Amino acid sequence: MLISKLGLREEVVEFAESVREFCEREFKDALEWDEKEYMPPDLWKKMGDLGLTGMMLDEDLGGLGDDLLTSVVIHEEMSVYSPAIAMTLGAHAILAGNVINRGGNKKQKEKYIPPIASGEKVAAICITEPEIGSDAAHPKTKAIKKGDRYILRGTKIFITNGPVADIFVVYARTSDDPKRGVSAFIVEKDFGNISVEKIHKMGMRASPTGIVTFSDTEVPEENLLRAEGEGIHIMMEGLDVERIGLSGSNLGMIKGSLDVASNYAKERIQFGQPIAKYQLIQEKLGYMLTQLELNRMYLYNLAETWRKFPGSRKLRAATALVKMSSARAAVKAAEEAIQVLGGYGYTTDYRVQMYWRDAKLYDIGAGTIEMMKIILGRRIEQGFDNI
Ligand SMILES: Cc1cc2nc3c(=O)[nH]c(=O)nc-3n(C[C@H](O)[C@H](O)[C@H](O)COP(=O)(O)OP(=O)(O)OC[C@H]3O[C@@H](n4cnc5c(N)ncnc54)[C@H](O)[C@@H]3O)c2cc1C
Repeated sequence: MLISKLGLREEVVEFAESVREFCEREFKDALEWDEKEYMPPDLWKKMGDLGLTGMMLDEDLGGLGDDLLTSVVIHEEMSVYSPAIAMTLGAHAILAGNVINRGGNKKQKEKYIPPIASGEKVAAICITEPEIGSDAAHPKTKAIKKGDRYILRGTKIFITNGPVADIFVVYARTSDDPKRGVSAFIVEKDFGNISVEKIHKMGMRASPTGIVTFSDTEVPEENLLRAEGEGIHIMMEGLDVERIGLSGSNLGMIKGSLDVASNYAKERIQFGQPIAKYQLIQEKLGYMLTQLELNRMYLYNLAETWRKFPGSRKLRAATALVKMSSARAAVKAAEEAIQVLGGYGYTTDYRVQMYWRDAKLYDIGAGTIEMMKIILGRRIEQGFDNI
């Protein structure tokens, strides 16, 4: 670290240290979890005991409070050890939990937030469908009102935590209104008529992903979030929070790549001296450090700005910018780290290959790079005078 952490609030620094100690103790087998597509079931309780499952959830309901910077540093620290577990945790608390926390009424929050915050129940968010990805505002899943319930029918794909979730936040079409046709629902696994199929992935392998099908699942009307037609607004605000919080993971992967590569370069002797002495290797390490510092400064700043202006649409372009920039840097940093380690970097003995596979997800999930560029393009079109 050069200067990027100097301005951090003391309590955030202390919390980050406790997360690092926790991961050092509990994540020793993370490479094996990656290989076996496995997440230890007791990890939820352990993460809950430390408060991690309560990120971005109200303190009086058992959460950590809506301090987005804390969520960023949790993702950063945890992703040095396991980006997949960090993503699973983020999907649970920031993607699904926070949407209920912000969009839910008192009764919904009192019922669902405490078990999510403690990690007793696992949550997942269901936006993407087999035929609807980037065009997320036009789901085919339908929720048809019948008396005091909605009948939910449709399939959601790539759902993080899908195979293990107890609670789903689901976006579905409630009318054909092009602007206000989508609504959001809290759906319990126990409502029934829900089937889940596991998906196997190249990266983020310790994080369970699934296809979730709702076959006429009956959802009580009191589980509608806010009101009919509010779905897109809830979704977009949720995606902004997700993009900031989970981009912390990219910082962790850049930091991990730099740690592994710089330590290796100082030890590895070729042509009579450590490879760290060669300028072509120094250029790679310098790239990683530069990206870590710049993306960290921007992301921390954005998370603090969000605290002052929560939900402000004016921050959407900044959010897209840092999500795209940090994801691209994480993929490149991992690739450069593999190169520094030569053949050893290509083996599964080192974390750098895991970072490479895991980082690629952030080029895609929560909005692809192309979608981030489109958001930036729109912002540029609008002009900068009102930033
Ligand atoms: C590991 C993993 C976990 C995930 N977790 C979740 C989750 O928990 N919940 C959830 O709902 N979803 C989840 N997703 C889904 C993810 O958000 C989507 O994959 C992503 O939004 C892209 O959608 P798509 O895959 O359908 O690609 P598509 O939208 O079909 O895009 C395919 C390609 O076309 C490009 N493209 C599309 N439209 C345009 C355009 N207008 N201009 C230029 N290029 C365009 C895209 O950028 C992309 O390169 C997850 C995905 C993965 C891989």
